[in-house]
Amino acid sequence: MTSIGEKVAHVRSARQDRRHSCHWPGCDAQVPPAMWGCKKHWYALPKDLRDRIWRTYRPGQEADGRPSRDYLDAARDVQAWISRQQSQGQGRLI
Ligand SMILES: [Zn+2]
Repeated sequence: MTSIGEKVAHVRSARQDRRHSCHWPGCDAQVPPAMWGCKKHWYALPKDLRDRIWRTYRPGQEADGRPSRDYLDAARDVQAWISRQQSQGQGRLI
Protein backbone atom coordinates (compact mmCIF):
# COMPACT_ATOMS: atom_id res chain seq x y z
CA MET A 1 0.00 0.00 0.00
CA THR A 2 1.30 3.40 -1.00
CA SER A 3 1.49 6.04 1.72
CA ILE A 4 -0.21 9.38 1.25
CA GLY A 5 3.24 11.02 1.25
CA GLU A 6 4.34 8.82 -1.65
CA LYS A 7 1.15 9.64 -3.53
CA VAL A 8 1.67 13.36 -2.99
CA ALA A 9 5.23 13.06 -4.29
CA HIS A 10 4.01 11.17 -7.36
CA VAL A 11 1.31 13.72 -8.15
CA ARG A 12 3.61 16.70 -7.54
CA SER A 13 6.17 15.35 -9.98
CA ALA A 14 3.57 14.37 -12.58
CA ARG A 15 3.75 16.05 -15.94
CA GLN A 16 1.21 17.22 -18.45
CA ASP A 17 1.75 14.30 -20.83
CA ARG A 18 -1.63 14.51 -22.51
CA ARG A 19 -4.61 16.82 -22.56
CA HIS A 20 -6.44 16.52 -19.26
CA SER A 21 -8.50 19.28 -17.76
CA CYS A 22 -9.62 20.08 -14.25
CA HIS A 23 -12.59 17.97 -13.13
CA TRP A 24 -14.51 21.00 -11.87
CA PRO A 25 -17.49 21.40 -14.22
CA GLY A 26 -16.79 24.07 -16.81
CA CYS A 27 -13.13 24.56 -15.87
CA ASP A 28 -10.81 23.87 -18.78
CA ALA A 29 -7.54 24.48 -16.94
CA GLN A 30 -5.00 21.89 -18.06
CA VAL A 31 -3.60 19.81 -15.21
CA PRO A 32 -1.41 16.69 -15.29
CA PRO A 33 -3.56 13.54 -15.56
CA ALA A 34 -2.42 12.49 -12.08
CA MET A 35 -4.11 15.56 -10.62
CA TRP A 36 -7.80 15.89 -9.90
CA GLY A 37 -7.96 19.52 -10.90
CA CYS A 38 -6.47 22.97 -10.78
CA LYS A 39 -5.24 24.38 -7.50
CA LYS A 40 -8.11 26.83 -7.12
CA HIS A 41 -10.80 24.19 -7.49
CA TRP A 42 -9.01 21.45 -5.57
CA TYR A 43 -8.78 23.70 -2.53
CA ALA A 44 -12.41 24.75 -2.97
CA LEU A 45 -13.33 21.17 -2.02
CA PRO A 46 -13.90 20.30 1.64
CA LYS A 47 -10.93 18.64 3.28
CA ASP A 48 -12.76 15.39 3.95
CA LEU A 49 -13.43 14.95 0.23
CA ARG A 50 -9.84 15.82 -0.65
CA ASP A 51 -8.67 13.28 1.92
CA ARG A 52 -10.93 10.66 0.39
CA ILE A 53 -9.49 11.28 -3.05
CA TRP A 54 -5.99 10.91 -1.63
CA ARG A 55 -6.88 7.73 0.21
CA THR A 56 -8.46 6.05 -2.78
CA TYR A 57 -6.13 7.36 -5.49
CA ARG A 58 -3.61 4.85 -6.80
CA PRO A 59 -0.48 6.22 -8.51
CA GLY A 60 -0.58 5.04 -12.11
CA GLN A 61 -4.38 4.87 -12.43
CA GLU A 62 -4.19 7.90 -14.71
CA ALA A 63 -1.93 5.91 -17.05
CA ASP A 64 -3.77 2.58 -17.11
CA GLY A 65 -7.26 4.07 -16.84
CA ARG A 66 -8.24 1.69 -14.05
CA PRO A 67 -9.14 3.68 -10.95
CA SER A 68 -10.58 1.68 -8.07
CA ARG A 69 -14.27 1.57 -7.32
CA ASP A 70 -13.57 3.51 -4.13
CA TYR A 71 -11.89 6.25 -6.14
CA LEU A 72 -14.82 6.44 -8.54
CA ASP A 73 -17.20 6.66 -5.57
CA ALA A 74 -15.14 9.47 -4.08
CA ALA A 75 -14.96 11.30 -7.43
CA ARG A 76 -18.73 10.96 -7.83
CA ASP A 77 -19.30 12.37 -4.35
CA VAL A 78 -17.06 15.30 -5.23
CA GLN A 79 -19.21 16.06 -8.28
CA ALA A 80 -22.35 15.75 -6.15
CA TRP A 81 -20.89 18.16 -3.60
CA ILE A 82 -20.05 20.66 -6.35
CA SER A 83 -23.52 20.53 -7.85
CA ARG A 84 -25.01 21.06 -4.39
CA GLN A 85 -22.89 24.20 -3.98
CA GLN A 86 -23.95 25.43 -7.39
CA SER A 87 -27.62 24.78 -6.79
CA GLN A 88 -27.39 26.68 -3.53
CA GLY A 89 -26.10 29.63 -5.49
CA GLN A 90 -22.77 29.84 -3.76
CA GLY A 91 -21.16 31.19 -6.89
CA ARG A 92 -18.18 32.54 -5.01
CA LEU A 93 -16.53 29.15 -5.24
CA ILE A 94 -16.68 29.06 -9.00
ZN1 LIG B 1 -10.35 24.16 -12.16
